[in-house]
Amino acid sequence: REEMNIIQGALELRTKTVEDVMTKVEDCYMLPFDAVLDFNTMSSIMESGYTRIPVYETERSNIVDILYVKDLAFVDPDDCTPLSTITRFYSHPLHFVFSDTKLDAVLEEFKKGKSHLAIVQKVNSEGEGDPFYEVLGLVTLEDVIEEIIKSEILDE
Ligand code: ADP
Repeated sequence: REEMNIIQGALELRTKTVEDVMTKVEDCYMLPFDAVLDFNTMSSIMESGYTRIPVYETERSNIVDILYVKDLAFVDPDDCTPLSTITRFYSHPLHFVFSDTKLDAVLEEFKKGKSHLAIVQKVNSEGEGDPFYEVLGLVTLEDVIEEIIKSEILDE
């Protein structure tokens, strides 16, 4: 039974897209570009429990950086360090995928190991103006694996 489910899940990787399994942008824990790493911000980051936190400028749909919680190891909240000082120092690459990317393709990308998190975007050509990239959410390796094993992975 269990094995059947996993085989089924693996087969569906070819048809399901990242949009089906992503965490929607409105549910993402993110920080504004101009945040200051004071006690309140650092507590909020710790409480969120996430290991990687997208950083946006002006609008939540404009993701410009990513903070890894481990980057905070040497940050003293009393120094009130600007977030941008830390993100500029570590400067982790951001990975984007289009919302219609199939899960097998994104799994291959994740297996290459650069990052196990990607920002999901689409080209929005609705409306009057020029088409623009719209951020829909984020997807991680865990979201793909959950699709294969068909059950929630409970976080530690
Ligand atoms: P973490 O190591 O931060 O727990 P995982 O890669 O294990 O992240 O993903 C666990 C779940 O949390 C996935 O569903 C993923 O989409 C979601 N997730 C990861 N980072 C964030 C974030 N910053 N805000 C909201 N959801 C997130």
